Amino acid sequence: MSSVQSYLEGLLETVQRTSAHQPEFQQAVAEVFESLAPVLERHPEFVKAGILDRLIEPDRLIRFRVAWVDDNGRVRVNIGYRVQFCNAIGPYKGGLRFHPSVYEGIVKFLGFEQIFKNALTSLPIGGAKGGSDFDPKGKSDMEIMRFCQSFMNELYKYIGPNTDVPAGDIGVGTREIGYLFGQYKRLRDEFSGVLTGKALSFHGSLDRVQATGYGLCYFTEEMLKTRGRSFDGQTVVISGSGNVAIYACEKATQMGAKVVTMSDSNGYVYDPNGIDLAYVKDLKEVRRGRIKEYAETHEGVTYVADCSKVWTVPCDIALPCATQNEINKESAEALVKGGCTVVCEGANMPSTPEAIEVYLSNGILYGPAKASNAGGVATSGLEMSQNSERLSWSFEEVDAKLKGIMEGIFHASYDASVAAGSEGNLMVGANCAGFLKVATAMMAQGITY
Ligand code: NDP
Repeated sequence: MSSVQSYLEGLLETVQRTSAHQPEFQQAVAEVFESLAPVLERHPEFVKAGILDRLIEPDRLIRFRVAWVDDNGRVRVNIGYRVQFCNAIGPYKGGLRFHPSVYEGIVKFLGFEQIFKNALTSLPIGGAKGGSDFDPKGKSDMEIMRFCQSFMNELYKYIGPNTDVPAGDIGVGTREIGYLFGQYKRLRDEFSGVLTGKALSFHGSLDRVQATGYGLCYFTEEMLKTRGRSFDGQTVVISGSGNVAIYACEKATQMGAKVVTMSDSNGYVYDPNGIDLAYVKDLKEVRRGRIKEYAETHEGVTYVADCSKVWTVPCDIALPCATQNEINKESAEALVKGGCTVVCEGANMPSTPEAIEVYLSNGILYGPAKASNAGGVATSGLEMSQNSERLSWSFEEVDAKLKGIMEGIFHASYDASVAAGSEGNLMVGANCAGFLKVATAMMAQGITY
């Protein structure tokens, strides 16, 4: 075993010890480390400076109590988190997730991935993530507001437009960002670009709502070009029916594909005629209903009460847009069996390591999340720029920049895969390109943390 290899193994053991009982974080670190040996061989100075030793431990992890009062006057208590991982190339940046599954291991895996994803965008943003085990499902609008206000009563101490700029993620959309922003403004008496994903009426960016889904499709189209293909005429399977899924469906359809599925954590719908997106938008964005209602209102649509089976639907392209580890080995094999030749990730870490092995050994074109879903944070970066100059850009201007950034990420990842001796392996390429940028900045700044 080379000295670089044994160095990486030693660090993985450290992670297993210091982050025991955090399997998602261990998985995210192992996936990055798997790719980095060629870069470390070329740059022994990164090993000497302990770049990775430093990156596996966040700059800080903040955990706090969030007490709030429900509509029945009962006191409820949840846990809030913010993990600030690395600010070598810009203020900490990353979303907030409100979901009962949130704990330290989830925010750490997301924050760690965010370091490299944000570096790939070429914008000045560092890596962070946060959230709470609060479950927004079934809560009234006033309960959501009171929770967001209580969450911000603590979070405001640690964030700021030049320090840390949170955004949305699962369970946190424009409504929640509005309540969080309102409370921050009240506490600091300051109107600033401290959060992104804001509504347009108070200087959110046009195209931010669409950005992750649209960016995913721009990235997928670049991947398809390498095989002389495009979205046109392709059958697409999408999981999830939230922000990323809806706008991935919209852009893939605009590019000529037929999207036949959408899901939520209860089940999936299969519409052989192509998803009626206007209905899904109303169902999810306005009425906040369940995807099952789609089957109850559309002829010829099948509803299956098991979301993990969505991958058995035959398709050319799969876009997982729900959550982590939603595709395991068995699901990946089902995709191969159903004729799928492209998997591009909208969700963060939706494929288990075993699923990725299935993709690679079957010649599937694989777009890893930290490259393919970077459009959301990239457009958040563009929202920060607009807020700083107190100007708003047109939808077309933002979208053209988003497309350019996604094409740039594809080419940077592809070129880095070639340099690493793994041509076309975009997972290796994205990890190497993102790491190189962060490591170079850390070297220049000395050993500060
Ligand atoms: P939303 O909350 O808008 O939607 C999430 C969707 O995924 C819902 O349909 C939800 O179903 C489903 N889902 C969530 N958890 C599970 C689960 N455990 N099992 C099955 N389905 C589940 O979130 P987003 O669309 O914003 O985020 C989706 C993914 O994309 C996440 O991985 C997120 O980290 C990632 N992402 C989001 C970005 C953004 O800009 N929003 C940027 C980059 C990545 P249900 O309603 O039943 O919970």
